This record gives sequence, structure tokens and C-alpha cells, in this order.
Amino acid sequence: MKRTLTTGITIWKSRGLLWPVALLLRATACSVKKTARGLIVEPSQGCTGGCIGCSLPEKPSVLEPETLEAWLGVSPAEPVTIHFSGKHSDPLASPDIESLAVAARRHCSMLSISTIGLGMKPGLEQLAVDRWIFSIPAATEKSWIQLRGNNRLQEAIETINTVRENSTAMVEVVLTIWKASADDIKPFNALKKTHSWKHTKVVFGRFDPDGYHFGRLENIAVNSRECPYSVDENNTLSLKNTPQGCPLSGYLFLDAQGTLRPCPFTGDESPHLTEPEQNSWKQAGEWVKNKNGREYPACRWCP
Ligand code: SF4
Repeated sequence: MKRTLTTGITIWKSRGLLWPVALLLRATACSVKKTARGLIVEPSQGCTGGCIGCSLPEKPSVLEPETLEAWLGVSPAEPVTIHFSGKHSDPLASPDIESLAVAARRHCSMLSISTIGLGMKPGLEQLAVDRWIFSIPAATEKSWIQLRGNNRLQEAIETINTVRENSTAMVEVVLTIWKASADDIKPFNALKKTHSWKHTKVVFGRFDPDGYHFGRLENIAVNSRECPYSVDENNTLSLKNTPQGCPLSGYLFLDAQGTLRPCPFTGDESPHLTEPEQNSWKQAGEWVKNKNGREYPACRWCP
């Protein structure tokens, strides 16, 4: 709640006085038309992380701004929030990220971007987003190398600080805990203090059996008390608690190929729509019940 309020106040300051009115109108329209209030968008299947052991597609798909416009243009109600993120990818790998941001911002009340903050082109710190979320997998060079096979912690820190100094957008830094970074909360708090990061968060990595690298079982911090997963003597992973509902109930996912899906974790075995037309939004609106009932195979691993 505090996080949402802080985000809202920061955006209000930058978007102007009438921003809450537009937000309220969009939220009401989404509710009346039974359309998702949030859209997660994957700008590219490519990545800028260069982690050892990660195999990306040879020719990563890139979402064209026209495709995003086509989907948003036929939506019965514009989403309140659009969030650029990756599945096994990073939004900054898209050559069209600036055009995508301009197109998305026109159609929502809050545009955020989640990135690992590596390989950022000069000038992108001015990207037209309302919130940057920098997701780092470790807070020490040792654990970073152990996890990623390269040493780019300093680069990530420099990118975060460059954006903080040159953008009016809210900047949040998120530490994702994996097995190699299970003891990194203390060093992360030290980084926060050294660099005066105002908005930070710690989360646990999600198990992803299809993941190219990070989400695999060997990287999950199962020995940490707060980790949502445990493993049994046969090395079989399961959720410690049975969650209710869907954490992304009000969101849909548009992938880099322009396919609309229930969330970033469901694949072709779950429903998906390729045609940007009103009826697709209508059908997607009916997925909420199945999402909350956790009926898709990927839901099994969703904390
Ligand atoms: S995997 Fe299932 S529960 Fe998790 S976000 Fe997707 S639809 Fe929701």
C-alpha cells in the first residue's frame, strides 16, 4: 500500500494536476468494460545481460510499436498501467524502446519499466516512463559472478545512479534473492545507504522450469527461511504454502511476438490470442476466472 501511494505521489508530481482524474476515468472504464486494468508488455526477446549459461533465441523477436498501437487501439478500455518487462529477456534490448514508450504512455496513466540495467544506451535515462524498476540478482561481486558468470554489478549501480540523476521518474531497486545471493540482504542495505537509494525491495526468485538460466531449480534459494519454495529428499520442488487467487489477476501479457497471454509465465499450452481485435480483448477478459482458479500449468509454481 505504502509503495503504491509513494508511486502515485511521484507520478502525480510529474504528470500534472489532472493526472488522478484521468487515472480514475481509466480505472472506471476498465471495470465497466471488464477489461484488464494492467498490461505487461515484452518489448523484445533479446537480453543485455550476457550471462554465462543463458541461451537466448538466435533471432529474438522485437515488438513493433505499430503492433502495440494496434492492440491498444481496439481495446474497449485503455489500461491504467502498462509495464515493460521481459520473460527471459530485457526491455532495453529492444531497438524500438523509445517509440514503444511514447506509444504506451499515450494510452495509460502509468508506464513503468523493469530492467536489469545493463548495456543501456546513452540517452535512455530520459525515456518517457513514470517508474524505473532495476532488478539486480545479487548485491556483491562474488555472488553476481557465481550466479551470472560475469561481473557487472558496478555497471548496474552506475546505470541506476545515472537514471536517478537525470530522470524525474521514480526509481526503485529490487534485489532478487537466488541461492548464490541468499546472504546479500545486508550488502544490499549497505548499497542502499551508500548510494542513497530511496525506494528498494527484496523478493525471492521464481521457479521457472522453462527458464534459460535463472529460474532453474539449482538457483532457487530453497535454504532461506522466507523462500516460498522447499525441496524434498528427491529434489522435487514445491510451494511451501498454497496461494489463493492470482497475483496478476488484473493484468494481461503482450509478448514480443504480439501475442496476448494470461500472464508472462503461461505458454502455448494455455490460451493465447494473436489477432489485435475487440473480440480478443473480450475473450481475454474471460481468463480472470481461470487465473484466480489457478487452472493453468504455470500456476503450479506461482507464489
Ligand atoms: S502463473 Fe497462474 S497464478 Fe501465476 S500469474 Fe500466471 S495466471 Fe496468475
